[in-house]
Amino acid sequence: MKEYENTSCNLVPYIDKDFINDLSSRIDIIEIINKRVSLKKAGKDYKACCPFHNEKTPSFTVAPDKQIFHCFGCGESGSAIDFVIKHDHLDFVEAIETIANEAGLQVIYEKNSDSTYSKTQEYFEIMKEVSDFYSLQIRSKKYLPIISSYAKKRGLSGDVAKKFEIGYSSPEWDLLFEKFKDDEKSIARLVEMGLLIKREKKEGYYDRFRGRLMFPIHNFKGQVIAFGGRSIDEESQPKYLNSPETPLFSKSKELYGLYHARKYSRSIDNIIVVEGYMDVVSLHQHGVTNAVASLGTATTPQHIDILSKTSNNIVFCFDGDIAGKNAAWKALNIALPKIKAGLIIRFMFLPDGEDPDSIIRKESKAAFLKRVDNSITLSQFLFEHIKDTIDFNTIEGKTQFLEKAFDLIKTIEYDVYAKQILEGVANQVSQDVSKTEEMFRDFKVKNPIIFQPSESMTVIEKKSHPSNDSYKKLMGRMIQLVLNYPSIVTDNVEERVRGINNSSVLTDIIRSALLVENLTRDELIRPFKNQEQIFQRLQYLSKDLNPYLNEKQARNELLAAIDKCEKIQAKGQRSSFIRKKLEIEEQERIAEEIKKSKGI
Ligand SMILES: [Zn+2]
Repeated sequence: MKEYENTSCNLVPYIDKDFINDLSSRIDIIEIINKRVSLKKAGKDYKACCPFHNEKTPSFTVAPDKQIFHCFGCGESGSAIDFVIKHDHLDFVEAIETIANEAGLQVIYEKNSDSTYSKTQEYFEIMKEVSDFYSLQIRSKKYLPIISSYAKKRGLSGDVAKKFEIGYSSPEWDLLFEKFKDDEKSIARLVEMGLLIKREKKEGYYDRFRGRLMFPIHNFKGQVIAFGGRSIDEESQPKYLNSPETPLFSKSKELYGLYHARKYSRSIDNIIVVEGYMDVVSLHQHGVTNAVASLGTATTPQHIDILSKTSNNIVFCFDGDIAGKNAAWKALNIALPKIKAGLIIRFMFLPDGEDPDSIIRKESKAAFLKRVDNSITLSQFLFEHIKDTIDFNTIEGKTQFLEKAFDLIKTIEYDVYAKQILEGVANQVSQDVSKTEEMFRDFKVKNPIIFQPSESMTVIEKKSHPSNDSYKKLMGRMIQLVLNYPSIVTDNVEERVRGINNSSVLTDIIRSALLVENLTRDELIRPFKNQEQIFQRLQYLSKDLNPYLNEKQARNELLAAIDKCEKIQAKGQRSSFIRKKLEIEEQERIAEEIKKSKGI
């Protein structure tokens, strides 16, 4: 069982191994599937129309004696856990937690020795209390008139407000502080969660969110990890204010509405990425439940990872204005290297001046879904956008077109897709495909991807430094440990490793391991496949450890190696400082002698 990396924080511990083993015997596959797909008894088995492919006659079968399901139509099969993973779009640990929850079982975690687990629980508890506090405020008589007039203006229904647990923070400066002021521990937690801010001039704290509609941001389990606040009167700035980065919340890793999309969508054929949380809520209210929003940040690679785990069809929805186009272009650049087999990314642009909220209210759910259907493919957008920036009807323009397209295509790792896009490029400039491919190969040689890590390993090998050998060995060992046990890394490890000289390959591997759990060794080293020398070394390092270590031993060894590297580095810095000092003294001495010999 690998350590589970929550998308929102790394403080969640292992689930107890015995618990997982026991769980299978304590649950009933019929009960679990029947909650999601209505089953009919057929002999000793149960049947239904398959939730994983389109069919009219049931070929989806569940066998209670074997506790497995199997579809004779599409071939999907597995245990109850497999079913929940696939049907609810969850990863293994999420599925275990969901199933346990439904069966009324308390998940047993391995307790972390350093008590980070209980601290995380305290964070979740205080966030829940604050969320309830804001929910209470939204019903307070005092603010009812302004809240309801705002809700009316935005067409927000009470039902959807309840579903998303939307609350209100009153305009007073310290209402939240007042509520908790006698509880020192809670105050400390609230400060860590960014909800209270210390006053500069006098004692005490004030509330971060004031006079705002409060949108709790949930993790996949529905726990509140942060808040987004929308100012209710149009003059208050900023219009949108989010929680800062906290131990529970990192905006580059979170998507607003993902929990609700998973919870309320029967099957997620595609996932629509919009710009604001009001858009998500409004779409949801109109029956489009498969929408999420990033939180005050452009699309990140982590977002693409999370989205592609949820659905193989990602539709980015942007405003039709220049800002929207630019944001879309950024998303395209981030998405290209992330495209893999089966993943389709599309773009839709709304008419100028409209956002998803306004357009779905003006039009209808059907009209909005039609827009989703008519969204353009990533390659279409790529070609169109480049053409917009050049004069395509000239030879010079076509040359620029090729250069700009090649520059993007070289970032694509999925070869099949890269080939297809190259074919598209050839069509665009009415040129032979093989000639275009040849030009692209030339281009790639002359314009290689500038890759930070490429230096690291070769530099370590070239530099001759007394401690270099042990340094190189340590670096190799650390890479080996992380490749074998990606679950042992934490944010703290990443930070320390980044501080070590020439550690960029290891840092990159650690980052991948933090972003996506359960990556295999091959997947971890794949980003380096274009750098032959490094890749070979990584392949060499990714073999099994001998002797075998358990995770705890591996973690301890990694931390010890980091310690050592830091010490070597500190020593190196001191000695190079002394060397430099000696060099200067030597130069001064020589200059002195020259002066003397010349009789100056
Ligand atoms: Zn099927």
